[in-house]
Amino acid sequence: MSRQICPDEDNTYLHLGRLIQNQSYGRERKEVRLEHLCLDLIRREEETLVVAEVKKSSRAREAARMQLAFYLYELEQMGVEAEGELLFPEERRRERMVLDPELARQVENLKARVRALILAPSAPLPTRIRFCARCAYAEFCWA
Ligand code: SF4
Repeated sequence: MSRQICPDEDNTYLHLGRLIQNQSYGRERKEVRLEHLCLDLIRREEETLVVAEVKKSSRAREAARMQLAFYLYELEQMGVEAEGELLFPEERRRERMVLDPELARQVENLKARVRALILAPSAPLPTRIRFCARCAYAEFCWA
């Protein structure tokens, strides 16, 4: 993102993910852009603002958790208190998340590591992992 590199818009799994996001949770408000954040869904539950992230599957659950934790952290920095919810509609599963001090510390560490990567003179060489086969950025790594 810092280099304005966009994913391959023809990637099947990207389309599938967007389709699942659009066809699920029809009554809830969708895709809200707030400064640098792009939130899949937001809703109010009495006094609580809930921000949700929709994922096709829980295979990359940890990455999804950190993405949502980042959103909660950034919202907190803006003075917006919210709770998070990870949604896996294909698996009929949802997980609630709260930004506690330990999770906030993990987000701060990750932000520092990403900042160091952005400031590095060149990108590190890619390492093939199990997500590469479906990744919408694969052409940049392996073409
Ligand atoms: S290393 Fe694999 S998962 Fe990471 S950006 Fe490249 S193709 Fe995608």
